[in-house]
Amino acid sequence: MKKVSIVVPCCNEAAAVPLLYAALQPIMTAQSEYQWEVLFINDGSKDETLAVIKALRLADARVNYVDLSRNFGKERAMLAGFDYVTGDCMVLMDADLQHPPQVIPEMLSWWEQGYDDVYGKRISRGREHWLRKRLSLAFYKILQKSARMEILQNVGDFRLLDRCCINTLKKLREQERYTKGMFSWIGFRKHEVLFETRDRAAGRSSWSVRQLFRLAVEGITSFTVVPLKISAVIGFIVSFFAFVYMIITLLKTLIYGEPVHGYPTIMVTILFLGGVQLISIGIIGEYLGRIFHETKNRPTYIAREYNGERVF
Ligand code: UDP
Ligand code: MG
Repeated sequence: MKKVSIVVPCCNEAAAVPLLYAALQPIMTAQSEYQWEVLFINDGSKDETLAVIKALRLADARVNYVDLSRNFGKERAMLAGFDYVTGDCMVLMDADLQHPPQVIPEMLSWWEQGYDDVYGKRISRGREHWLRKRLSLAFYKILQKSARMEILQNVGDFRLLDRCCINTLKKLREQERYTKGMFSWIGFRKHEVLFETRDRAAGRSSWSVRQLFRLAVEGITSFTVVPLKISAVIGFIVSFFAFVYMIITLLKTLIYGEPVHGYPTIMVTILFLGGVQLISIGIIGEYLGRIFHETKNRPTYIAREYNGERVF
């Protein structure tokens, strides 16, 4: 019998977890030709999430959990999911029911037809701030253009992954993670399934604007070095104009013997060049920091226990 795992990273989801479990129940019962596992990754929740999960496990042996030693963020929690999942395939979903479990049977049928990565594509983004929508749209455009890789818009982490994808993803252990890009990067046979996003069932989104910005920077810098090239190109263009301007000034001075004029021009030039240099250094620093973190070679996350057993 094939085993299907549902993998759910949870951070402060005590209210949502029972609702999700209740929603999964009928689907697991209906699809009785599969063996099921529900794997919760408790990502350093500060509320009762772990207790709730433990209670579920007590009542239903199909429930497994990994408890991380602190909050590592969803990206790393997902890696823990890839490491501990036991199924022949896994369905990655959020705890807040924004990913409708009703889509799972459709995903499974595509999987049975030989697809390795059946990803959910949002039809609507639910209730979201317009600015956030705009920003995310702009972000995808930039990423798409610069990464030379198809990173699909409105496609999130809600997806079914075959064992071959899971085993491959396990090998991508970088510290600064942009999992959405990794799904594209690993390739394999992909298929799309549409779903409608709903509002959060309970609790609140744990992403702050700052975290989202971080993720956007992560997305760009971990998949492309185009920003480095852009700063080089800007450098070239600015130097070219500076050179032309230098010749002009030189000739002017030689011909007209100009007195001290030109303070504004000098100020503007210095400030502008200073700005360009600082930005470029900042971009280089972003990549350098990444190398620094990566070379420390620390584990990407630390698990405290798996199903009540100590991992360390
Ligand atoms: N999550 C997590 N660790 C974090 C933040 C979020 O494991 O540090 C989980 C969260 O519990 C949820 C999923 O990631 O299951 C998506 O989070 P959320 O709903 O807050 O994000 P949004 O839907 O707003 O993108
Ligand atoms: Mg959510």
